[in-house]
Amino acid sequence: MKAFYAEEQKRHDPKAFLSSGAPQPNPEKPERIERLLAGAISAGLTVERPGNHGLGPIAAVHTPEYLDFLKHIFTRWQRIEGASAEVIPNIHPIARNGSYPASAVGQAGYHMADTACPISAETWNSALWSAWSAVEAAEAIMAGAPSAYALCRPPGHHAFADVAGGFCFINNSAVAAQVLRKSSARVAILDVDLHHGNGTQGIFYARPDVLTVSLHADPVRFYPFFWGHADERGEGPGLGYNLNLPLPRKSGDAAFLEALATAFQRIRACAPEALVVALGLDAFEGDPFGGLSVTTPGFSRIGEAIAGLDLPTVIVQEGGYLCDALGDNLTAFLTGFGGKKD
Ligand SMILES: [Zn+2]
Repeated sequence: MKAFYAEEQKRHDPKAFLSSGAPQPNPEKPERIERLLAGAISAGLTVERPGNHGLGPIAAVHTPEYLDFLKHIFTRWQRIEGASAEVIPNIHPIARNGSYPASAVGQAGYHMADTACPISAETWNSALWSAWSAVEAAEAIMAGAPSAYALCRPPGHHAFADVAGGFCFINNSAVAAQVLRKSSARVAILDVDLHHGNGTQGIFYARPDVLTVSLHADPVRFYPFFWGHADERGEGPGLGYNLNLPLPRKSGDAAFLEALATAFQRIRACAPEALVVALGLDAFEGDPFGGLSVTTPGFSRIGEAIAGLDLPTVIVQEGGYLCDALGDNLTAFLTGFGGKKD
């Protein structure tokens, strides 16, 4: 299997975020790339640099105003006297049915869901290359590869069509799914990150052509709080094409695999022609977020189970934070999935 990744993805280096109101070092560190790269290579993958795919595949799932904001906000922010070094919002619209703000501070509040996605000079470029890794992996599948891995960092599944959040700016999994739609009438996205893939759900919520399924820690007391509940099933023509499977905290491998079986039933019933796995590794028992208790052998079984769907598959990296086993967990997933075979 091929892995796609570009050096530019390391340059985004967010410094801080608020956790329960307290400033903390931002855990979405460039060093994650080194660990994940080592994990992919250990599983036998060959690493290639993606090409520059322009804005087309990204603009297919994000609004023009949002992409313009991401591209220019850092420069605009620096012109504000006394502004912070990174773009961090301090006001949010309580409803988004008012007018679009003209100011940098107003737009930061409009386009950023929380404080976990600070924007610095390098953010836009890193996010672009992260998305292009996903595009390249999707194109590899369309060219006939059975599977491909996109080492996307910064991650993407908390980014909506026009809102950043939770360390995410461009929704790489959504970009990959939309590229796959060129050759597949139906695509499924299976999100196994610890956190609910709220941005991905939001992008496809009213669409029946992209099924979104997410397994995650129950958001009743966990990020992203406002999304990820079992009664969110889609709307309009997309009703029934979103499935959320919230899991109790610390529920472990067996509960995860059981929920995965439920996810597979829905995916098979939808009969997609291609699959995107939004692969977070933060469900790990030793991950700093500590939400679920999946083990390293558990990731191997999860990979093996997903391979059983027997679909052309793009694996897109989402979360998974610095801990000793981060690379090993990726190796376990990819090896279980069958990365050594192709
Ligand atoms: Zn996560």
